[in-house]
Amino acid sequence: NAKNTGKRDITLYNPSLRIQRTEEQKIVGEFYEALYRDDFQMYLQPKFILRDRSVYGAEALARWKRPDGKILPPGMFIDSLEKIGYITELDFYIYEEVLKTLEKWDKQHRRKIVISTNFSGRHFESDGEEFLNRIQHVLSKYSVRPEYIEIEVTEGVLVKNVAVLEKCMNRLHEIGFRVAIDDFGTGYSSLSVLADMPADVIKIDKSFINKGMTEQKKNLLYEIGRMVKILHKDIIIEGVETEEQEQFLKEGGFTCGQGYLCNCPVPIGDFEKMYL
Ligand code: C2E
Ligand code: MG
Ligand code: MG
Ligand code: MG
Repeated sequence: NAKNTGKRDITLYNPSLRIQRTEEQKIVGEFYEALYRDDFQMYLQPKFILRDRSVYGAEALARWKRPDGKILPPGMFIDSLEKIGYITELDFYIYEEVLKTLEKWDKQHRRKIVISTNFSGRHFESDGEEFLNRIQHVLSKYSVRPEYIEIEVTEGVLVKNVAVLEKCMNRLHEIGFRVAIDDFGTGYSSLSVLADMPADVIKIDKSFINKGMTEQKKNLLYEIGRMVKILHKDIIIEGVETEEQEQFLKEGGFTCGQGYLCNCPVPIGDFEKMYL
């Protein structure tokens, strides 16, 4: 027995193995404690009208406040959480923060705006029923109308699991939520699938405008805009950083944007001071 324990101890405390501990394992180990301690924070980024830069909505984006005070952006942890499946817990945490925020704004008689919140493709790997039940259950704890919440799902999910996603979007609609396809243009989904999707909003991925603009790309973007209009869906361009971009977007008939030109994601207190 002593021998066995000894062997296990060697494995646990072998310094070279400790060094090999991947970032992912670290995240696995710290995730639930961080969630419990409210170390995850909801930042809000404004969505704005290109014509006058007035703010009409916001996107909720997760940040991880580390014990040393550093704020980690999602790029540092989302992929790992996706891989191990914990992302679904983070999504519901942020979703509930959105509900709390909307309820608070209502009580404070502030101007209410639609807040969108991101849901990973992980929720749609099974039949989606668990996701839908939980969405409704959490909603029922707050006196918030679902019309003020927009559910963002990335285009990549659409490609992998069309049937489940279509069902879920339809049900979300029936409840009254708004639904958005995020990062459009990155996932190779077919146009017929897009036409069938009961989405209210298409969010054009920032790679469309941020990776150098040619005349050809600009025209392609304008055509996508016309196409989405045919489908009677709203459209928003992500990653609007410069006045030049804002200008050619307006010229192409686009009306809504999100990007550093207006503001980056900010803590909720800052958002309220600036926009509500
Ligand atoms: P996303 O949903 O496409 O969100 C937009 C991302 O673009 C945000 O990055 C935002 O800060 C960034 N962005 C906004 N304007 C600009 C701009 O003008 N230029 C550039 N270069 N970037 C801009 P962020 O906050 O780092 O989040 C990255 C991604 O992480 C999000 O992309 C989303 O896919 C994911 N994410 C964030 N929070 C959550 C969450 O609660 N759940 C899930 N499942 N994913 C989340
Ligand atoms: Mg998003
Ligand atoms: Mg996006
Ligand atoms: Mg994304």
